[in-house]
Amino acid sequence: MPISSAYPEPIQKAIAYLSHLPGIGNRSAERMVLSMMSWKPEELEGFGAVVTALGHNVGLCPICGNYTEAGTTCKICSSDGRQQDIICVVEQVPQLHIIEKSGSYKGMYHVLGGKLSPMNGKGPNDLRIEELGRRLENETVKELLIALSPDIEGEATANYLAQLFARPGLTISRIAAGVPIGADLTFADSATLATAISGRRIIKPN
Ligand SMILES: [Zn+2]
Repeated sequence: MPISSAYPEPIQKAIAYLSHLPGIGNRSAERMVLSMMSWKPEELEGFGAVVTALGHNVGLCPICGNYTEAGTTCKICSSDGRQQDIICVVEQVPQLHIIEKSGSYKGMYHVLGGKLSPMNGKGPNDLRIEELGRRLENETVKELLIALSPDIEGEATANYLAQLFARPGLTISRIAAGVPIGADLTFADSATLATAISGRRIIKPN
């Protein structure tokens, strides 16, 4: 449905921007913007400043790939209270936060940036595999927990990583029960992932 040209330009533009978001069409965007028209001017200003900061003040953690304030390592990598001997590999940042919210994992993370997908032209060099390799050279790391979606590409990527990084002293495991085959981990809830982590299976013992 087109945006009504009878709205003033700022409203039309705000609707157009919001409708870029996943699952938001012009109609939902219109409802959001009209609701925002009841906000105080300073609230709208604060919202605008936050959106601006997303572009300027947020970057990727140079260690794990999580979002962090630009130029810093993320809160997880810089925390003293985490288990340094286990790294959990996830596809994208949202999965890290789902696992984090489950409260079932206290180790480190590595965001891979996707899965190997020859069909879509995604090879090892398109993922943060080299960075992971450098982290695993550190012998304090005793376990690599692979938490990729249990679909064909996830399995292939997990096997690739297990072969590439096999070394004495490193256990390689894969999240197991609880996540339905083919499920996209982005939509798995925290409780399901907690089960999947505690029920992980070892694919390469140390
Ligand atoms: Zn980090």
